[in-house]
Amino acid sequence: LYRSCWVCFATDEDDRTAEWVRPCRCRGSTKWVHQACLQRWVDEKQRGNSTARVACPQCNAEYLIVFPKLGPVVYVLDLADRLISKAGPFAAAGIMVGSIYWTAVTYGAVTVMQVVGHKEGLDVMERADPLFLLIGLPTIPVMLILGKMIRWEDYVLRLWRKYSNKLQILSSIFPGGSSKTCYWGLALAASAWKCLCLHELF
Ligand SMILES: [Zn+2]
Ligand SMILES: [Zn+2]
Repeated sequence: LYRSCWVCFATDEDDRTAEWVRPCRCRGSTKWVHQACLQRWVDEKQRGNSTARVACPQCNAEYLIVFPKLGPVVYVLDLADRLISKAGPFAAAGIMVGSIYWTAVTYGAVTVMQVVGHKEGLDVMERADPLFLLIGLPTIPVMLILGKMIRWEDYVLRLWRKYSNKLQILSSIFPGGSSKTCYWGLALAASAWKCLCLHELF
């Protein structure tokens, strides 16, 4: 026995890859519908108003419409929106800031443990001033993100190029020092630091 879609009348035979849903109280052959067909049908009924209620034309059961295409970001925003309307804007903002802050603290602590080692990192943080940790740890991810967003090493190199002529003169005054070596050393250090930042972020 094949399922058949009440929108397009196609059966399992016609399309073996289509996704099927049973969204209402209908029984028998009319209970099945293609996911895509139902979506199209609902869209036509709603005419752009995504909050409009839509019901099955046969059993009159209201369709529960979920939006799986919207990613987790939209879900979080929606949740935050509902929180704000319930708990008041200030409480919700406080919760948001608090959770972002604690995420940053956790990320900072994880970064410290990754850089200096798990046990050593824990030791360092246990011995450190708690106030220092509460301010210092969240700045680590902020610095990492800034380090990734701002092309600061280009800026440093530009500055270096601008002043390297003077340094050349300096190095000719002080024999033994080569500004070219310094330049490449700095470029290497800058790109290595950037690599580290990217590595820590992802
Ligand atoms: Zn269909
Ligand atoms: Zn129905």
